[in-house]
Amino acid sequence: MHRLITLCLPLFMSLTVLSYGQDQFAKVEIKTTPLGDGIYMLQGSGGNIGISAGEDGVFMIDDQYSPLTPKILDAIAKISDKPVKFLINTHWHKDHTQGNENLGKKGVIIVAHDNVYERLSTDQFTKALNRESPAYPKVALPVISFNDAATFHLNGLHIQARHYAHAHTDGDSIIIFKDRNIIHTGDLFFNGFYPFIDHTAGGSIYGMIETTAVLLKLVDDKTKIIPGHGPLASKQDLQDFHDMLVRSVKIITPLVKNDLSLEDVTKKNPLKDLNKKWDNGHFDAEFYLGVIYQMIVEHNK
Ligand SMILES: [Zn+2]
Repeated sequence: MHRLITLCLPLFMSLTVLSYGQDQFAKVEIKTTPLGDGIYMLQGSGGNIGISAGEDGVFMIDDQYSPLTPKILDAIAKISDKPVKFLINTHWHKDHTQGNENLGKKGVIIVAHDNVYERLSTDQFTKALNRESPAYPKVALPVISFNDAATFHLNGLHIQARHYAHAHTDGDSIIIFKDRNIIHTGDLFFNGFYPFIDHTAGGSIYGMIETTAVLLKLVDDKTKIIPGHGPLASKQDLQDFHDMLVRSVKIITPLVKNDLSLEDVTKKNPLKDLNKKWDNGHFDAEFYLGVIYQMIVEHNK
């Protein structure tokens, strides 16, 4: 009996782990939101996907987690009978790029900022998450990278990727559907909850503030904004997010200048008013505070 248990226990445990991992994505459904002119927002698990579908084929922005690729391609097949031609990664994080390998194998041309290529092609370590991200295989890497901006002319659209330095990471792009008043912000904007800012990959809350201020000048009250995470957004949502970042820095800076440790700052619960609205995402208030505290300390050295 004892022998049977020792034999079976590891098997049972590995099955549990396996089924949990599969379940996590088995339940995910891809929700498609049409935005007009063959442009769509797709939501599943991970960063929001943008699609342009038309006579020249499918143009895709971000691709979520690899187990979701078949479901995402099924959702795209309901929009278009054409193949995915181009994929652009708004930044390197896996919740936006893990489908690259599956899509690269299908011959999709992957495009991204130079720093996305750099980070995906080398091993990465994200300190705040204590997470290692091994380099992607060649087939999953961008075959075209750009340093400032790139414009795609297809489906009767001019789709421009513009890079902004040192915000969520050091390789962020926003995607603008020119003359259509639709933009995809990547993770420069989390709609309705605290963001993650990837300090070890060159991100900065000061860059997030600057860049969201620039974005606010690009949009108007009718702009449809696809955020990196959260529901489809308006200019007001983006303004609220920007204001929250500004207030966070304003609240924490004097505490840092008074040499308070992160522990002491956390005890004071200084973001409690902001938490009511913003502490409902994947990254909780304490995590957010820890991330921005470090950046504010370095900024005020
Ligand atoms: Zn991200």
